[in-house]
Amino acid sequence: MKRIFKSSVSIILTLILAFSVVIIPSAEETTIVDGKCTCGEEPEIYVAALGSATLYKDADTPDEKVLFRPETGAYVELIAKLIGPLFLVLMTKDYDAFADKLIPAVDGIFGDLANDEEGNSTPDVTTKEELPTDPAHGLTGNYYFGYDFRADPLVVADDLSAYIDHVLELTGHEKVRLRASSMGGVMTMAYLYKYGEAKVKSVIFQCCPLQGTAVAGDLFNGRIQITEESVYRYAETALPSLLEGFTETFVMGLVNVVYKSGFLGTVLNMVQPILDNCAPRVFDELLIPVFKSNCGIWSFVPDEYYESAKAYMLGENPNEVLLQRIDEYHYNVQQKAGDILNDVLDNGVPVMILAGTNIQRTPLVPTWTNDSDGTVDTKYASVGGTIAPLYETLGEGYVQAVDCGHNHISPDNRIDASTCLLPENTWFVTPMLHSTTHDGHGELYRWFFENDDEGVNVWSNPDYPQFLENDIDGQKLLPQK
Ligand SMILES: [Zn+2]
Ligand SMILES: [Zn+2]
Repeated sequence: MKRIFKSSVSIILTLILAFSVVIIPSAEETTIVDGKCTCGEEPEIYVAALGSATLYKDADTPDEKVLFRPETGAYVELIAKLIGPLFLVLMTKDYDAFADKLIPAVDGIFGDLANDEEGNSTPDVTTKEELPTDPAHGLTGNYYFGYDFRADPLVVADDLSAYIDHVLELTGHEKVRLRASSMGGVMTMAYLYKYGEAKVKSVIFQCCPLQGTAVAGDLFNGRIQITEESVYRYAETALPSLLEGFTETFVMGLVNVVYKSGFLGTVLNMVQPILDNCAPRVFDELLIPVFKSNCGIWSFVPDEYYESAKAYMLGENPNEVLLQRIDEYHYNVQQKAGDILNDVLDNGVPVMILAGTNIQRTPLVPTWTNDSDGTVDTKYASVGGTIAPLYETLGEGYVQAVDCGHNHISPDNRIDASTCLLPENTWFVTPMLHSTTHDGHGELYRWFFENDDEGVNVWSNPDYPQFLENDIDGQKLLPQK
């Protein structure tokens, strides 16, 4: 009950944690002659996910505090503060009294994340990101670009540009390879929009919300929905990617007992009135003030939710500077992703878009039936793929929407990739939990980078066709049959 309750109240926390996956491989040796590197391999920059840079309040002062991600102690303290009020509200049904405890407790952890009205960080909240100094690079090593996830992507694009210039100078190369994960894709798109692809050899987008994610769209419209089925399916589809061996067997067995015995339903029925009664205040007093000027999270709102989200989050007199910033990303970058990336391709820079499928999306919102990688809907990560709802197919006799002379329908008849804006450059991995990778993904990316002198796409290698099966235990990506 604690777990479900906790995730139902700190909604944004779930969203944020789901976006936070970080991988840091090692680097190889290199050779520089007259300032130019002769190794033949352009350095790779990993444009990391949300949470890539630690955020501090009052950095380098005696009051320094880690704001994001909060330390474990902060969560323990939060649970300790709320466990008593939670039991009390179940008995008294005094929801206002509970909200009076809940809102300040959560605000104590996340309140300082609020940007100023124009969408800039307040001066007391900073990162400690530094430019790299090690010139060693190669196909198995990379540079790590972290950023403040609350910032305007078009400002982060300037930082990424400076970082790229620095890496080029450091390594003696003229181009970099970019590998973006999750929110890193937002920043990479903002960079390509602003600076073009002249300094880019090739680019990979892994599980990126290139056209947003429905969970952000729903939450920024004040919509929450938790159902028994979505919570169960989240456990059923997401946990096997996180657990293994006996633990997996044990936990999955427990999940089934909890669901099939009706216990989960009973718990949710108890929690539902708390959610219904407290949600309006939690939005008004906590989530809207903390997140309304978070330009980074705005970049996650898909088009069909966007204008209503602005009305809900910003009210009748929105800050004009903030509005202009979020609109520029939304209309000129997110909504032009296909045009931007097709230009990149036309200029000879290979692109790989990789979308995960077959995982229940965050079980918090009405759009929980969208197929996804658990965090980003497959249709948005794949920039326009036609995807059947989770556990369903496109139907017998389904005909490919766009006839380009290829088959773009997945062998399991769940995906039609012909509607993707880059149908020849978009791969799908089934099942794949958000940015959760293993050696098999590493091999795929390595193959892509090793062959990026040619125009690699979904037809280049029979081992890596458009639709891949994720062998999680074997750590391999295999052609889907
Ligand atoms: Zn080199
Ligand atoms: Zn085609």
